[in-house]
Amino acid sequence: MGTIEQAAEVGQFGVWPLIGNTPLVRVSPLEPRPGVQVYAKLESLNPGGSVKDRAAAAMILDGLRTGALGPGKTLLDSTSGNTGIAYAMLGASLGYPVTLCVPSSVAEERKRLLRVYGAEVIWTSPLEGSDGAIRMARELHADHRDRYFYPDQYNNPANWHAHYETTGPEILAQTGGRITHFVAGLGTSGTFVGAGRRLREVNPAIRLISVQPDSPLHGIEGLKHMASAIVPGIYDPTLADEDARVETEAAWDMLRRLAREAGLLVGASGAAALTVASRVAQGLERGLVVALIPDGGERYLSDRMLAPGAGRTGSG
Ligand code: PMP
Repeated sequence: MGTIEQAAEVGQFGVWPLIGNTPLVRVSPLEPRPGVQVYAKLESLNPGGSVKDRAAAAMILDGLRTGALGPGKTLLDSTSGNTGIAYAMLGASLGYPVTLCVPSSVAEERKRLLRVYGAEVIWTSPLEGSDGAIRMARELHADHRDRYFYPDQYNNPANWHAHYETTGPEILAQTGGRITHFVAGLGTSGTFVGAGRRLREVNPAIRLISVQPDSPLHGIEGLKHMASAIVPGIYDPTLADEDARVETEAAWDMLRRLAREAGLLVGASGAAALTVASRVAQGLERGLVVALIPDGGERYLSDRMLAPGAGRTGSG
């Protein structure tokens, strides 16, 4: 364990080769007029079910390369769920134990997924959200430095590099370079910063639009309200051309609408990105808008999936 040879090898076995190369699908119900196209990059098609497989894989490979992850080490990090699922899956594939600090408010589906992959979970206060989980992981690591490999996804450049190396180039290739607007939510900000930097480098005319919840207490799992949160070290607030805000209810309305009108079941943060993509598209005469969808709606079925009265108003 923990050798450079292993790092070179792991990308080629088990679930690892399934990470990335996710589909880009057209979301025509959000297209206001001919000449404006809206696409969704479906990260739920990764083997762990979310965009975070990319970042987790990159951080683990980096740890193996540098030797920070090696024999006898346990992988430790804080996560609101998806990174944890990715760590748990990939840790299991390599035989490393995984310990995660997770706010106890995350959806039940995520809790069960973490358990089924065999991760040890330390539940943190729901009132403190992801910041409480961050503090707990920092403390544990400070107390037991020799025991843990702590990738620290909020401050690890391998997080955004993963998207610079894979997500960004995939979007350019899948749109034949025709993308005009890129929309993605901010959690650790790895996705937006990494893919955004690549897109900007290749074509500075592409507009980069980040998405945040409109208030500190929100219901869009995976996204951070930066003004009231511990700001990730890898976040670059100067990158975005526009930093959009989404109301929780607007995101959940979009989630339910797309399930019914497009047969597309995305998670809440993906619905938030598509809410912004739709608003951007409305203002365009011509353009190709890509929204990044971090995970699928199956992960939130125990949440507010059905609005009050949805059963009555639904048809069929
Ligand atoms: N949405 C969901 C559901 C997530 O789990 C995450 C990761 N925290 C994000 C969005 C944000 O992605 P990133 O950490 O790359 O900013």
